[in-house]
Amino acid sequence: MEYEKVCSSCGVRLGKGDGMAFFKCPNCGEEEIGRCHNCRDQGITYTCTKCEFSGP
Ligand SMILES: [Zn+2]
Ligand SMILES: [Zn+2]
Repeated sequence: MEYEKVCSSCGVRLGKGDGMAFFKCPNCGEEEIGRCHNCRDQGITYTCTKCEFSGP
């Protein structure tokens, strides 16, 4: 079963081709951060659930 991805900032569920971005946490390199189009646009910060690193 495919893991459902969510935006790490606002928690919205993300589908394919929604303009969302995914990347590994730059601090711990383990947690995958998701960001929706909206949060990227507004520069809302994300927080890693593993190491609590947050960034723009
Ligand atoms: Zn979002
Ligand atoms: Zn992290």
